[in-house]
Amino acid sequence: MNSNGNANHVKVLVLGSGPAGLSAALYAARAELAPVVLTGIQLGGQAALTYTIENYPGFPEGVGGAQLGELFQKQAEHFGAKVEFDTASEVDLSQRPFKVKADGGEYLADSLIISTGADPNKLKVPGEEELTGRGVSYCATCDGWFFKDKKVVIVGGGDSALEEGLFITRYASSVTVIHRRAEFRASPILQVRATEHPKMSFIFDTVVTEVVGKEKVEALRLKNLKTGDETVFETDGVFIFIGHTPNTQMFKGQLEMDNLGYIKINDRMQASKAGVFAAGEAADSHFRQVVTSAGMGAAAAIEATHFLEAQAD
Ligand SMILES: Cc1cc2nc3c(=O)[nH]c(=O)nc-3n(C[C@H](O)[C@H](O)[C@H](O)COP(=O)(O)OP(=O)(O)OC[C@H]3O[C@@H](n4cnc5c(N)ncnc54)[C@H](O)[C@@H]3O)c2cc1C
Repeated sequence: MNSNGNANHVKVLVLGSGPAGLSAALYAARAELAPVVLTGIQLGGQAALTYTIENYPGFPEGVGGAQLGELFQKQAEHFGAKVEFDTASEVDLSQRPFKVKADGGEYLADSLIISTGADPNKLKVPGEEELTGRGVSYCATCDGWFFKDKKVVIVGGGDSALEEGLFITRYASSVTVIHRRAEFRASPILQVRATEHPKMSFIFDTVVTEVVGKEKVEALRLKNLKTGDETVFETDGVFIFIGHTPNTQMFKGQLEMDNLGYIKINDRMQASKAGVFAAGEAADSHFRQVVTSAGMGAAAAIEATHFLEAQAD
């Protein structure tokens, strides 16, 4: 809402302030479209949750996750993007300008870039949240390196669990996969590679009931679902791969999505409604990296610029 009590009318509204959203804002700002970014509750997105990011180009010594978010924000603002600490709660995409209701007011947007990201599914057990970034991780490519010669546990039984587990064997001294069922869901070839790997071992029919540790992960409390037996398993880290949930619920019924809720886009980041673009993990269940999300954000803003230019003709 602006000072007259009317909805703010903007050319480009960006939902989300992760790498995708802030990169989209940078590109839209440099195209002089004065984009507004609604940050959501996590300024900087998931990347801001991690202590250090070592695989974003341009930072040979690595960069703090929160620091990278601040740099993205500063660069977008430098060119005129407006970053609002607000969260969208409702959208009406039935006609342009699109209507977006946020906690702090209403927006009318000539084009919309959705970069609300995805959240890794959590175990929801004591200790998990407190020790995230201190031994609890949801990203092997990001954090595997920190577990050089350490004991690591993987939780999950699908492709990502085994794929990421195999990746971590490059660093860790041992990788134990804990799965709640008696068999993996992962593809047979991955199962063969994992079971034949000398560093990997497996515990089936078992769930984690607590992540134990003071400053960092020290152990997991486990429960065997068949016998009910409880044990404590010492480990330096636990990687959780039990799926992701994209933050796209508010677009349900208005945009095409896949069966997991990822927004369907074409190779120009355009969603199923003209003028709506999606970037980063809201639309990408595969790559899930800062660099790929930022790239999609930039592409979405370039396409939003072309879209608005075509409307003006
Ligand atoms: C612990 C951890 C460590 C990681 N380490 C690395 C690493 O080292 N290297 C790497 O490349 N990748 C890493 N990743 C992955 C990387 O962070 C993500 O791929 C990337 O952040 C995805 O960017 P995104 O902009 O698509 O979404 P996100 O980063 O998920 O950002 C989503 C944004 O949308 C906002 N939002 C959500 N709902 C709303 C709403 N309703 N209204 C407005 N805003 C909303 C959120 O507040 C957030 O700002 C890591 C992930 C985690 C969890």
